[in-house]
Amino acid sequence: MAIHEKSLIDADRIMEHDSLVVDGVDVSGHWNTMIKPRYIADYDDDFEKIIQSYGGGENVHRCWQCGSCTNSCTMYAVNTDFNPRYWIYLTRLGLKDEIIKDKDIIWQCVSCNKCTNICPKDVRPEGVMKALAHWLEDEGHTEVKPSHLFDEEFWEQVERTGRIEDAHVIMGFFKKTKQPLIQEWLTAFTTRMIKHLPFAHLFRMGMNFVFTPRTRSWGRTGKVLREFVEQQEAEARERRQQARQAKEAA
Ligand code: SF4
Ligand code: SF4
Repeated sequence: MAIHEKSLIDADRIMEHDSLVVDGVDVSGHWNTMIKPRYIADYDDDFEKIIQSYGGGENVHRCWQCGSCTNSCTMYAVNTDFNPRYWIYLTRLGLKDEIIKDKDIIWQCVSCNKCTNICPKDVRPEGVMKALAHWLEDEGHTEVKPSHLFDEEFWEQVERTGRIEDAHVIMGFFKKTKQPLIQEWLTAFTTRMIKHLPFAHLFRMGMNFVFTPRTRSWGRTGKVLREFVEQQEAEARERRQQARQAKEAA
């Protein structure tokens, strides 16, 4: 039989005859594929809880594996190894080592949130991708990735001013990732904007870049938001610490 996502199965577990006739019926190739059983002992019961303790991973337990997230995923369209449904499945089973094998692509999620919009169980797969990427960094499996630095810059601006100025985010991201501030694609992009956007709009953008406006009353609102985020992070750290201690004690 044909197998869905055959690439996810270790090659040495797939049995297939190139040429086979059974009772006069030709069942060559895919039609006689069998998979050797696998017995798993290297799972971590607490892994799902650990991922739930990261921002975005809270709803991972709700997944019923419909695959809509992967089907709609922007990254899957360009690289079929990028498979949110599969990583969520591994998370639920506690198969950390399998997730570590994909450490160099999980962080590539572009946060388009198509998966989040389509998910029938409100799992928020985009958040789970972020949670997994942060866990990989915390455990030292990957260095801090550009997507993390972008999120950091984005959040710092929201926290400071209650709004986002695209030019500031890009500049801040370039600084954090030690990229030159003048780049060919950016020059081409800016030239097109100057040519096609109305002057009033460009003027307003320029003024906002220089004076960095803040949302009205942001001082108090920002403070509440900051305290809330700090509280959430402290609780998440505490939950992770408890999960580690419980594991060590077991
Ligand atoms: S769309 Fe939602 S429920 Fe379906 S596989 Fe993805 S995360 Fe799971
Ligand atoms: S947010 Fe990430 S995981 Fe979700 S569809 Fe976009 S690229 Fe894929």
